[in-house]
Amino acid sequence: MLSQMRRSLLRLSVLIFMVAFTSAFARGLVALDEAKIAQAVQEAYAKFKDDDSGKNADYIKALAKVDPKLFGVTVVTRDGKVFEAGDTKAEVSIQSISKVFTAALVMQQHGAKFLQRKIGANATGLPFNSIIAIELHHGSASNPFVNAGAIQATSWVTAKDSKARWAKIKANMDAFAGRKLPFNEEVYVSEVNDNKRNQAIAKLLDAYGRMGSDPLEATTVYTKQCSVNVSAHDLGVMGACLANHGVNPLTGKRVLEKAYVPKLLAVMATAGLYDNAGDWLYASGAPAKSGVGGGLLTVIPGKLAIGVVSPPLDKYGNSVRAQKATIYIIEKLGLNPFAQ
Ligand code: GLN
Repeated sequence: MLSQMRRSLLRLSVLIFMVAFTSAFARGLVALDEAKIAQAVQEAYAKFKDDDSGKNADYIKALAKVDPKLFGVTVVTRDGKVFEAGDTKAEVSIQSISKVFTAALVMQQHGAKFLQRKIGANATGLPFNSIIAIELHHGSASNPFVNAGAIQATSWVTAKDSKARWAKIKANMDAFAGRKLPFNEEVYVSEVNDNKRNQAIAKLLDAYGRMGSDPLEATTVYTKQCSVNVSAHDLGVMGACLANHGVNPLTGKRVLEKAYVPKLLAVMATAGLYDNAGDWLYASGAPAKSGVGGGLLTVIPGKLAIGVVSPPLDKYGNSVRAQKATIYIIEKLGLNPFAQ
């Protein structure tokens, strides 16, 4: 009788422990093994360091000149621990990754419904600078991560004029990075003198009554936001703010309302890697955003972020080595969110 009671007590305490452990794990409280993260980062760097497949973007002339050998891999955990290998302080222009932060700002100012209604939250299935996609969707840009939706998002940032709009967008990116990010004048001049296609996109959206401010001014501000420089380290920190439910783990500052984080991650999952977002999600299971400068920011919700910089791109405009290194780390550490 006594031993039976003891046995059921034991069973109960094992059960309680298991429930507590599982829920702690679900909340990301059980720290991932730090030595394992450090090792996975080093291995990912060493494994792909000499992989020279892909090609720098050259439709923006200044991007073709960036050293294709640059390669940096950074992991930042939700509680601000940093693991890195390679050229993690080398900077490239943020390009399309900036779209994440302007979309975040628009949500912060106008709410998640506004973003979905005005801009959209669906994949286009077409290239990032597609004009046909706008026509096909009756004037909708589809999502804030194709150029159309990103220029639209820029136009909807509430500010008294375009100078103030740019200041807000830049300050917002700086808050995510936890430092004043440098501006790449060379990339900006190169792109602003050659962005007629983006101007056409903005004008077309304006004709559909979808812009929040002057279309050409918005295109210029959008081009500025794409010309901000970031390193793999910065991308890791910026992503970690999203892994940490909207609080920058290094500065402790809230950069985005908690409720908007899953919305933003959802759009990253469906449209973060342009028209190859499906294949990316199939391989990694993780919300991510790439830029033609060669950056890739990936978020493992509630756990950590991976920031990688490597300029050579595949045919979709996504960094080849950054994708490989990120997938390696995800697989090695069993981080695929769909496999939890
Ligand atoms: N500034 C670039 C453009 O508008 C950004 C594109 C990208 O990174 N995919 O074309």
